[in-house]
Amino acid sequence: MSAQLFVVATPIGHLDDITYRAIDVLKSVSIIAAEDTRTSAQLLKHHNISTPLTACHEHNESNKIDILIQRLLNGENMALISDAGTPLISDPGFKLVRAAQDNNIRVVPVPGACAAIAALSSVGLPSDRFSFQGFLPSRQSQRLIQLEKLKDETQTLIFYEAPHRILESVKDMADVFGADRPVGFAREITKTFETIKKMTLADLIQLIESDRNQQKGEIVLVIGGATQEKDLEQEKLDQLLTRLLQDLSVKAASQLAADLTGIKKKVAYQRALELTNKD
Ligand code: SAM
Repeated sequence: MSAQLFVVATPIGHLDDITYRAIDVLKSVSIIAAEDTRTSAQLLKHHNISTPLTACHEHNESNKIDILIQRLLNGENMALISDAGTPLISDPGFKLVRAAQDNNIRVVPVPGACAAIAALSSVGLPSDRFSFQGFLPSRQSQRLIQLEKLKDETQTLIFYEAPHRILESVKDMADVFGADRPVGFAREITKTFETIKKMTLADLIQLIESDRNQQKGEIVLVIGGATQEKDLEQEKLDQLLTRLLQDLSVKAASQLAADLTGIKKKVAYQRALELTNKD
C-alpha cells in the first residue's frame, strides 16, 4: 500500500505558530521535502524534530518528483513544507502534489499559518469574498496591465509584495485603483516589528515614503474592492474618452480627459488604449 503525502503548514514568523498535529506529523514521517533545508532545519531544531530533510524547490522540483513519488509508492510517508506558511501558496509544491494525485497517493493537508489569511483576518476590510493575487509582475508595464485587469473587481484583493518593490507597486495601485482606495498594510506578521494598518493608498504612500522602515520585511497588501461609485466614474470616463477618440489620437484624448476629470494621465491613457483596441 502506498504511503501518504502530508502538506504541512509551518510558521510565517513566530516559530510557535505551528499545530500540535503538524509537529506529530513532521516527527513521524520518513522524510520531509523542504524548500530550503537550512531554513527548515532551524524550525525542526526548535521543535526537537530529527526527521531527515531533502530539498524540493522551484529549480529542482521537476527532476526530484520521480524520486519522491517512488519513495511514496514504496510505502514511505512524506511531509512537504516550504520556508514559511502553507506550501503551494506562492511557494513550491504544486508539481509534487499533482504527481501524487496522479499516482493515487493520498494527499493529506495539515493546515496552519498563511500570510494572506492572517492579513485578511486582521486589516478590517471585507473578508466575505476575496481574490488572492500572489505577487504582481516585477516589470512596471506588466504590473500596470495586471492592475488594470483588476481595477473593477469588487472582491477584496490580496497581494504579496517584496520590500524593495513596495513603494513602486503601491504607487501603481494608486494610479490605477485611485488614491482613495482603502488598503490594509500587513507587515512582519507575528514578528517583532509587526504592523497592521488600514488607510487609503495615498496615506500608505506617504507613510512608506516618510518612514523607510516600513519598506522593510515581509508585506501583504489587502485592497478594498471597487465600489458601485467607482463603476459610475469609470462609465463617465469611458463615455468621455469614446467621444474624444472619435476626433483625437489616444495621446491627445487621454491628455484632455485627464485635464477635464482630474484623473491621472497614465490611467486615462491605459483606458483609451483599451477602448481603441476593443474596436
Ligand atoms: N507560503 C507562504 C504563505 O502561506 O503565506 C507565502 C510564501 S511567499 C514566497 C512570501 C511572501 O508572503 C512574502 O513576500 C510576503 O508577501 C508574504 N509573507 C510571508 N510571511 C509574512 C509575514 N510574516 N508578514 C507579512 N507577509 C508575509
